[in-house]
Amino acid sequence: MRSHLVIGDLHVSAYRVPTDRPEADGTLSWDATTMVVVRADAGEAAGLGWTYAPAAAARVVTDLLAPVVRGGDPMDVPGLWTAMVRRVRNAGRTGVAGYAVSAVDVAIWDLKARLLGVPLARLFGLAGPSVPVYGSGGFTTYDDDVTTAQLAHWVHEQGIPRVKIKIGESAGTMPARDLHRVALARRVIGDAAELYVDANGGYGAKQAVRLERRMRDHDVRWFEEPVSSDDLAGLRLVRERSDADVAAGEYGGDLVYFTRMCAAGAVDCLQIDATRCGGYTGWSGAAAIAAGHGLEVSAHCAPNLHAPVAAATPNLRHMEWFHDHVRIEGALFDGAADPTGGAVRPPDAPGHGLTLRAAAAERYRVV
Ligand SMILES: [Mg+2]
Repeated sequence: MRSHLVIGDLHVSAYRVPTDRPEADGTLSWDATTMVVVRADAGEAAGLGWTYAPAAAARVVTDLLAPVVRGGDPMDVPGLWTAMVRRVRNAGRTGVAGYAVSAVDVAIWDLKARLLGVPLARLFGLAGPSVPVYGSGGFTTYDDDVTTAQLAHWVHEQGIPRVKIKIGESAGTMPARDLHRVALARRVIGDAAELYVDANGGYGAKQAVRLERRMRDHDVRWFEEPVSSDDLAGLRLVRERSDADVAAGEYGGDLVYFTRMCAAGAVDCLQIDATRCGGYTGWSGAAAIAAGHGLEVSAHCAPNLHAPVAAATPNLRHMEWFHDHVRIEGALFDGAADPTGGAVRPPDAPGHGLTLRAAAAERYRVV
């Protein structure tokens, strides 16, 4: 152990990676994804963290977080996390500043594990041997052929027995096409695989209840954000009237958010995104809140970042194998996971096991 080493500077970059085709869900459309990457150095060692956030998060790291982390002991992650959270008080604890804190927290955890020469999954400790994943994409912009090819790849080629598609198209104004695509998905994946849907808050509560009833013909098991995540009463109403599990939490930025969502009885499974809620440190608190409410958790997006902490979480249900981030992490990092068979094993390499392929990333750099 070389705990006498202190953190030097934080090196920040941002990359804007175009999607492979236009993408949309119920309430948003996009043609590129921006990733903000933080490297924390101590002596010869370097830790790597990232978040999917506007490039403005890079400026938060440089201006607000680097000054309070520089010179800190990389073994003392909770102390550094607390200092960062205090520092962003007036910038807004959640949102872009919280995404920046998340990336730095992950970089410091990774740095600590690499200094100790152990995988992060060893440092955290395993709760199980591997992490179940579900294929996630099925954007509303896809035609039937593209949807079919993507779902068939996950289920029939990679052996992933769970998949999710987006519904709630055009803010819930195209329910007939939503139902057509749910039926298509069930036909493609067969009877054995689990089918999930995500409306991204596109429906009203009673509209969501009516649609869920019709989706029972296709054995939909998971209904994510049927209404806005801010509408806890609406989520609860849908949850109480649904066969499908209701899930939400991807926008959660702090423990108060997750506590309110769980205490409202709004979800059957709490989604947590470590790239938004304060990194691995924030994840662990959120997972504990869910456990205290008798709930399981599911990792939202950034699968390669989540793998070590997901593997360490006793009340984990699964992790999202999200098309956009799988593509980016596979192209820009060495060490990305393989989901064949429907589960991921955290890497044996030190830290989270990923290193940035700087040359491959360079052409996407915006910061
Ligand atoms: Mg979602």
